Amino acid sequence: MSEIVATNQTILVVGGGISGMTAALEAAECGKQVILLEKNPSIGGRVAQLYRYFPKLCHPTCGVEINLRRIKANPNLRVITQAEVTRVSGEAGNYQVKVRIAPRYVNENCTNCGACAEAVEAEFDDEFNYGLAKRKGAYLPHAMAFPQRYVLDSRIIGTDDADKARAACAYGAIDLEQQEEEVDLNVGAIVWATGWKPYDAARIQPYGYDRIANVITSVEFERLADPHGPTGGRILRPSDGKEAKNIAFIQCAGSRDRNHLLHCSRICCMASLKQTHYVREKYGDDGQVSIYYIDIRAIDRIDDFHRRVKADPNVRFIKSKVASITEDKATGNPVLNGVDTEGYHRYANPHDLVVLAIGMEPSVPRDAYPMEININEEGFIEADPESGAIFAAGCSADALDVNRAVQSATAGALRAIQVVNRVAGTEG
Ligand SMILES: Cc1cc2nc3c(=O)[nH]c(=O)nc-3n(C[C@H](O)[C@H](O)[C@H](O)COP(=O)(O)OP(=O)(O)OC[C@H]3O[C@@H](n4cnc5c(N)ncnc54)[C@H](O)[C@@H]3O)c2cc1C
Ligand code: SF4
Ligand code: SF4
Repeated sequence: MSEIVATNQTILVVGGGISGMTAALEAAECGKQVILLEKNPSIGGRVAQLYRYFPKLCHPTCGVEINLRRIKANPNLRVITQAEVTRVSGEAGNYQVKVRIAPRYVNENCTNCGACAEAVEAEFDDEFNYGLAKRKGAYLPHAMAFPQRYVLDSRIIGTDDADKARAACAYGAIDLEQQEEEVDLNVGAIVWATGWKPYDAARIQPYGYDRIANVITSVEFERLADPHGPTGGRILRPSDGKEAKNIAFIQCAGSRDRNHLLHCSRICCMASLKQTHYVREKYGDDGQVSIYYIDIRAIDRIDDFHRRVKADPNVRFIKSKVASITEDKATGNPVLNGVDTEGYHRYANPHDLVVLAIGMEPSVPRDAYPMEININEEGFIEADPESGAIFAAGCSADALDVNRAVQSATAGALRAIQVVNRVAGTEG
């Protein structure tokens, strides 16, 4: 890796999702030196894993693509992937940051020809598709990945597969000698944008995510609907590959529950409303959706979105917290059990597929931050003057949609710029 230049006038952005990319670009386009660290082999975060965006239902790729073009064009911005911060010390205007960078085993010569992937035999769960598909031990994280460069999975290093990959590469791009690196950076301000992760659905035991094949999560459903996803965009049941036309969504799965996440994840109502469109888009009038909800929390312009979905005769809203899901062994259908609180009818409703509108929690566990930071009851970072020049952006600060995440990232960038400007003023 080429030398990383950083000074106390550099802004460090941690996390390369839409929030981190936005904060990094805003600061770099104001002429500041910025380093953007991402722990995965490519940037884009969870937005890159969505099929479509609410409220306009456009493809997220276009928004991500515009940002990537701006990143490539900006000499003030350095992106470092497979990098994690292990320690931060110091104070506003002068932080010392230790960064661990994992080896990619593939250098800049890579042309994306894919020959290494063909040569390798080992397969692993594909993280980009939430484990719904497999990928090779040599792989491109996804079609839009930036950098557009293959990666060798560290689990094949030292095996025959690693040698086969190297032998297959006609460009001398595979370097099996690469080692983990630790670098020290001096920076003036930090924007922390490590985002969110889906709540572990297996912990909601009555819903049987870990036992019933046709119970999936909303993030997995995004991948099923995506033409670049594991089923080529067909909504098929994991158990038998049959088309799933009668689909139930269960709201607040893991959120607003003292046994799981206390907070409302704020996005999942809108995400399910959006996903009803996927079903109707794929199956037309044959697509039937039932949304089991406590109350629908649709915000801003999305209220209109909600009204439109409500007017759809193929979408049923059932006001009820589902008590449990069992499986009809003969058909593989999940059966939802509970009481409809609007008529107090007991139900046992079979569906082809159940989608859990899973809660969002911070991606970094509360005890895993490499610095002193104020964390609230839900595990999100609280704005606090005691945190000096470490500013949280996007879903590391709250469960937010993209619009709000981007606003919070711009605010974070602005605060960071103010700090490094002060440093420049004192030193100049
Ligand atoms: C089912 C579902 C559907 C959704 N659909 C929509 C929609 O249609 N429209 C909309 O506006 N919003 C939608 N959202 C919300 C949207 O996903 C978020 O607003 C968005 O992902 C926030 O971006 P972020 O950059 O803050 O976080 P993330 O997307 O989580 O990005 C964080 C990045 O930080 C990296 N990272 C994590 N930890 C570290 C670390 N320690 N060091 C370095 N890097 C790290 C991650 O790898 C990731 O790249 C949806 C959410 C769900 C659950
Ligand atoms: S590492 Fe080599 S073989 Fe693999 S995609 Fe890149 S250029 Fe092709
Ligand atoms: S946004 Fe909707 S589904 Fe998600 S936790 Fe809040 S009320 Fe429940």
